[in-house]
Amino acid sequence: MEKKIVSVAIDGPAAAGKSTVAKIVAKDLDFTYIDTGAMYRAFTYYVIKKGVDPKDEAASCSLIPEVDIVLEKDGKVFVNGEDVTRPIREPLVSGNVSYIASYKEIRLALVDLQRKMAGTKSVVMDGRDIGTYVLPNAEVKIYQIASVETRAQRRYDENVSKGIPTSYEDVVADLKKRDYIDSHRAFAPLKPAEDSVQLDTSDMTVQEVVDAVLKTIEEKTGVKPLCR
Ligand code: C5P
Repeated sequence: MEKKIVSVAIDGPAAAGKSTVAKIVAKDLDFTYIDTGAMYRAFTYYVIKKGVDPKDEAASCSLIPEVDIVLEKDGKVFVNGEDVTRPIREPLVSGNVSYIASYKEIRLALVDLQRKMAGTKSVVMDGRDIGTYVLPNAEVKIYQIASVETRAQRRYDENVSKGIPTSYEDVVADLKKRDYIDSHRAFAPLKPAEDSVQLDTSDMTVQEVVDAVLKTIEEKTGVKPLCR
């Protein structure tokens, strides 16, 4: 029997734990995990590297034809062959990525790539506009939220563990700024899809969130992990 293709969209504000959960769910179901935020970050990295001001829309968009972004299965991210997995998490990129992500032309180019990636295989894709715009027909849509304090603490701990220097206050300011720009942009803003299942993960462990997402997937599609 042919395996059916299933798309799972996980959206929500910055540092709500989407990627942690999406990676585990994808592994449990043998789906491909696609981190769309990494694509906007990779583009931003390239803009900065070229000496272009990310707030300059025309100059940033002019780079579209020369940017080649590759997401590898092991989570590595490449821009034009350069491994940018680590630098795209640095504060300089985090602080500018929401400007780049607000430009329609850049979004259209990256959305095109994202749709191609989801066209031929089952995916868990995380981002801001996956359920509303990128994959509106996704069988499962999760909108994951958490309090600003919880999100900031998680992101701060993650940065420390990766050796990325940050202060807690800077993390809070960055999350608030990105959430504001992401939810107020004109094109494909951050908002829950009408048919999404909302999960407030503030007081949940990672495993509890994973279990809740897997349960929703099973209820909506019948697909469940093989060995659990
Ligand atoms: O998910 P992450 O926090 O790494 O995303 C970085 C930024 O990329 C977000 O703050 C947002 O501006 C942008 N983004 C987006 N649409 C997506 C994924 C990320 O606008 N689907």
